[in-house]
Amino acid sequence: MKHNFNPGPSILPKSVLEKVSQSIVDLDDSGLSILEISHRSSAFKEVLEKTKHLVLEIAGLSVTDYGVLFLHGGASTQFLNVAANFLNNKAGYSNTGSWSAKAIKEAKHYGQVIEIASSAFSDYSYIPVSFDEDTSTLDYVHITTNNTIYGTQYSEIPETDCPLIADMSSDIFSRTLDYQKFDLFYAGAQKNLGPAGVALVVVKKTLLETVQRQLPSMLDYRLHLTKESSFNTPPVFAIYTTMLNLQWVKENGGLKKLNKKNNQKASLLYSEIDRNAKFRGFANKEDRSHMNVVFNLVDPTEKEIFDHIWESEGIVGLNGHRSVGGYRASIYNALDLKSVDLLVDCMKRFENR
Ligand SMILES: *Cc1c(COP(=O)(O)O)cnc(C)c1O
Repeated sequence: MKHNFNPGPSILPKSVLEKVSQSIVDLDDSGLSILEISHRSSAFKEVLEKTKHLVLEIAGLSVTDYGVLFLHGGASTQFLNVAANFLNNKAGYSNTGSWSAKAIKEAKHYGQVIEIASSAFSDYSYIPVSFDEDTSTLDYVHITTNNTIYGTQYSEIPETDCPLIADMSSDIFSRTLDYQKFDLFYAGAQKNLGPAGVALVVVKKTLLETVQRQLPSMLDYRLHLTKESSFNTPPVFAIYTTMLNLQWVKENGGLKKLNKKNNQKASLLYSEIDRNAKFRGFANKEDRSHMNVVFNLVDPTEKEIFDHIWESEGIVGLNGHRSVGGYRASIYNALDLKSVDLLVDCMKRFENR
């Protein structure tokens, strides 16, 4: 058995994988595979509808106020899509990690971008709490709720006097949150939502009324909403698997239960990092992510010894991002507490060997 701490694509619940594997052979006794049905078929239209309603139900949002889109191109395409649709004059970005920096770079193709907060000068080890700018003059503010590479996370969502847009790729549906605070949020599915191949975009319909630019079809959120994410062939399999995963979220008690489970896993691991003299956490304590736990060895020359301990227990995906080094334990929704227990046990054994 493997204990999957991969940062993305990442762990999915076993029950979801089992159902998916059945559906690849025969979707609900239809005699057809999920991979060979039309995106215009009633079977797939039902999948789209169900997935949309699960997203809204889990987020606590109404279908009257919010549109739900399933798009190609990952979260990275949303970096430019958001700006193409909503950056008319000036937008404010909080620069809290490499993904934020990439979002800023893409937005600059469309208008003036100002960094209203940044932790870049301190290796992105914390979340800046306040903005250096009156946000009422901005088209929108963009934040990254969880910084996958550095292991920091907004514990509270900042207030703004303009629309708030968030990249939630690595912590979507991992905690209870007032999703109504956001005018738009998006996520590449492959971290906490489903397999690679689809990006979820949830957008307030009033925000769509602010679009001024003439847009090519594939960049136009309004068109994708009118066409129910089927302007062109949507990523059928990725959406279907996302639907199953959202059903799993619901059956497992929704965000309240997951919030509790994820907090438990995170505190267990951070407590060990703080207690064990062999390790050091990377992020500022108040801003620690409950999804990606980034830590280092105090003595990096002992790497081979520690690696051997966890690798021989079937733990995978623990190496840090190439830009930070050290270790990163991604502890997404589907990861069980017992996998974190095992990692903590490995850290103790390493200390006591
Ligand atoms: C992984 C990640 C991305 C990039 O997602 P793609 O779907 O690969 O484009 C963007 N933002 C955050 C926060 C991420 O973790």
